[in-house]
Parts: sequence; C-alpha cells; structure tokens
Amino acid sequence: MKVYNTLSRKKEEFVPLEEGKVKMYVCGPTVYNLIHIGNARPMIVFDTVRRYLEYKGYDVNFVSNFTDVDDKIIKKAMEEGVSAQEISKRYIAECKKDMAAMNVEPATAHPLATEEIDGMLDMISTLIEKGYAYPAADGTVYFRTRKFQGYGKLSHKNLDDLQAGHREIKVSGEEKEDPLDFVLWKPKKEGEPYWESPWCQGRPGWHIECSVMSKKYLGEEIDIHAGGEDLIFPHHENEIAQSEACNGKAFAKYWLHNGFLNIDNKKMSKSLGNFFTVREISEKYDLQVLRFFMLGAHYRSPLNFSAELMESAKSGLERIRNGAQNLKHLSENAKEERMSGQEQEIWEGSQAFVTKFEAAMDDDFNTADAISAIFELVKYSNTNVGGDSSKELIGNLRQRLCQLCGILGIIAEGKEEILDGEIEKLIAERQAARKEKNFARADEIRGILLEQGIILEDTREGVKWKRA
Ligand code: AMP
Ligand code: ZN
Repeated sequence: MKVYNTLSRKKEEFVPLEEGKVKMYVCGPTVYNLIHIGNARPMIVFDTVRRYLEYKGYDVNFVSNFTDVDDKIIKKAMEEGVSAQEISKRYIAECKKDMAAMNVEPATAHPLATEEIDGMLDMISTLIEKGYAYPAADGTVYFRTRKFQGYGKLSHKNLDDLQAGHREIKVSGEEKEDPLDFVLWKPKKEGEPYWESPWCQGRPGWHIECSVMSKKYLGEEIDIHAGGEDLIFPHHENEIAQSEACNGKAFAKYWLHNGFLNIDNKKMSKSLGNFFTVREISEKYDLQVLRFFMLGAHYRSPLNFSAELMESAKSGLERIRNGAQNLKHLSENAKEERMSGQEQEIWEGSQAFVTKFEAAMDDDFNTADAISAIFELVKYSNTNVGGDSSKELIGNLRQRLCQLCGILGIIAEGKEEILDGEIEKLIAERQAARKEKNFARADEIRGILLEQGIILEDTREGVKWKRA
C-alpha cells in the first residue's frame, strides 16, 4: 500500500512502526460554532483511511482532539455572556451529532485541550530545560525556532524566506528573541479562562496541544498524522519542532493532508463567510450523499462544492442503493438455495472488482476509482443475477457490495431517512390545516410523520418533534 507523504513529497510504501498496528492522529476542529462542510472533509476522508486500514487487518488507534480553548471560543462566549466551557461543550456535542450523521466512527479517544494542561506544562518545561524555549518578561513562553535543526522540513520552507516575510511585522512590545519564534504559553487577558503555570496565569498556544495529546494517547512516535492542507504551515511544522525537540525522536512517519473544499474556487471558511454547515446540508440531503460526494474526488485534490455535483452524487448513490435493494428483493424470492457450477464462476468473476477496489485504495486511497469499482460490481450483479439465481449467489454478491461500500462508510442498504427540512415543512402544513379547521388533513399529516418514526408533541411553545 502506498501513501503520499507531505514530508517527502512522494508516494511511499506504508510500513507501520509496529507490525499490524497503526497509530494515527488527526487534528480536530476548534469548537465555537457548527462545523461547515469544509471541516467535514478531513473527518470523512480520514475516517475512510481508518476504515480501509482496519479492513486490511491493522489494529488502528485513532485519536482526534477538540480544540476547546481559543480566541474564537472566548469571543463567542463573551458575545453570549456565557463561559467558554459552555460554548465548547455545546459545539462538541453538536459536532459529534454531525459526525454520527455522516457515519464517521468515533475516535478511539477524543481528548480535549483543556483537560491536558498538565502535559502541556510538562512539555513546555522540558523544552525550556533543553534550551528550545524561553519565557519572556511578561510570562509568554516562546519556542526558539532557529534552534530546531529540521524546521521547515514538512512545509519545505526555508528559514530565510520565512524571516523575510516577518521583517515588517514585528509587533511593538513583543519580547521574542527572533520574529520566527512562536508561542507555547501566553498570559491571560482580563476575563479569559486561565491556568496556573510557572511563568504566568495563562493558557496554551494551539500547536502545543496536539504535540501533547498525540504523545499522551499514542506515544512519542506515531505512524500517521493528518489534517487539512492549511495545517501544514505553521501548525504541523510547529508540532514537529516541539515534539522532536522534546522527545528526541521522529514524531510522525507519514503526514497526510487533504485538499480544500472550495466554493467558486475559494476555500470554504468561516472567516470568508462562504460556507454551508453540515446541519444546513442535512436539511436538503441525506448526509450519505455528502459523504459520497466527498469520496468522489481524490482526498488531496481541491474539490469544488456545487448543487450539480451534489445532485450527481445523489443519483450515483441511488444507483448503488437500487442495486443493493434489487439483490435483497431477489434473495427474498429466490427458489434455489445453493450455487450451480455456472454461478460459482459468476461469483468468482466478481472478485475482479474487489481486486480493482483494493488496487485503487492501495494507491494513496484513491476513493474515486474505488467507487468506480463498486459501480462496476453493481452493473455486473444486475446483468448476472435474476429471478432464477440461487439465494447463495445473490447473498454472496449482496454481502460483497455492502462490504465494499462499508469500507468507504457508505451504507448500501440504508433506508432513506425523512429529512429535517421535510419534517418542518409537513409540520407547518399541519399547523395551517388546523388553523383552517381542516382536522382531517392535520391528522393525516401526523400519521404520515408517525409512519416515518417521527413523533409530534403539541406544547405551549409550539410543535416539537423527535425521532422514535
Ligand atoms: P479548524 O476548526 O479551522 O481548525 O479546522 C478543522 C479541520 O478542518 C482542519 O483539519 C482544517 O484543515 C480543515 N478544514 C477547514 N476548512 C477546510 C476546507 N475548506 N476544506 C478542507 N478542509 C478544511
Ligand atoms: Zn493539531
């Protein structure tokens, strides 16, 4: 299996540090709002990488953090007049709901930065002892970037070019020895959350969080470190500097980065305001469609979001689901139990699509080609299976189709769930019917929703609904 390593800028043979085991860390979101579908891209693609590694027989220890202390979280908390913790707790819960709806498996561990402060204080102290970090007079602790020999090896940047970029932006009052030095710990400002430390009451810088959480949950050396390509510099470059300076060992063997999800060829981001939240998309589409859309492109390529591409993902997914549905139906009506000799050959012939699927995934997780192999399997099943086929052949093909889809986190036999948007529409129609005293229609709508497992409750604040 080959994976593209940002460190070497090459596809390399994947050889884990320990046979049969993979230690993998994916940088998680900063939780101050609902996640957008750009944030969903690394979640979906690296969940797929994990599923494929598991399919290959690896025992995967998959860690993904939540950054739950940050300027943006504090700002949001101040705007709402609540604590930063209340904001982060709320959006972690919402993020987990979105992840589940996208069929992203929970990580082995989801550490929170605020619960790992002791480890950060330890790592910062070690870096100071080793001469890689220093506290300034105001209590800020900086990393001494030039002291770390390998700085720039991931982003392939050279220190002098970086220095040139920094020349003009020396902030007055900053007490860095060098403009390239970055923050490990910073003093609190009035009203901000803080922790005691040997240097000042303050909070950690963002980069140190991941170095510490990765070390605690996975050890000093890991196999895969991943995230969006915007994290290559400075976040991952700084993580490498901190971890390797502290531990004296290579930090991660393979660095994987997903390309951006764009809108009109611009990166989707909160700051540009050009985003759709996963929640918004879930009102229009089953989130399996979003997953299918994302996996239709190679994870390193930029991917442009558009209504047309989502519609085409929707019909592609339907084609697969119809194929699975057809097999299910045929299996229920099959008369013959066991495969005939000719059917045995048909079954063996379908192995070619598994081989094709694996070859695609072994080539740096080429999910687009893996999906093509699934389409071919659907077509093959449709042409080779019919009313006379045996239960065994149909069952085998059905299982094969579901298994390949499952590796991509696609539920082939999933039933279409009624969408939140449709539920709201029906509830509004029911309210209108009641207003017009058309109680028969109102009851009918309640019945339609109940059939879909949606329970309505009339309360003083209006109609509430839940899924049974
Ligand atoms: P953030 O909450 O901004 O730290 O982002 C969480 C994760 O989402 C990181 O891995 C980012 O690289 C990734 N990410 C953010 N925006 C996009 C985008 N438009 N396309 C792909 N990945 C993104
Ligand atoms: Zn990180």
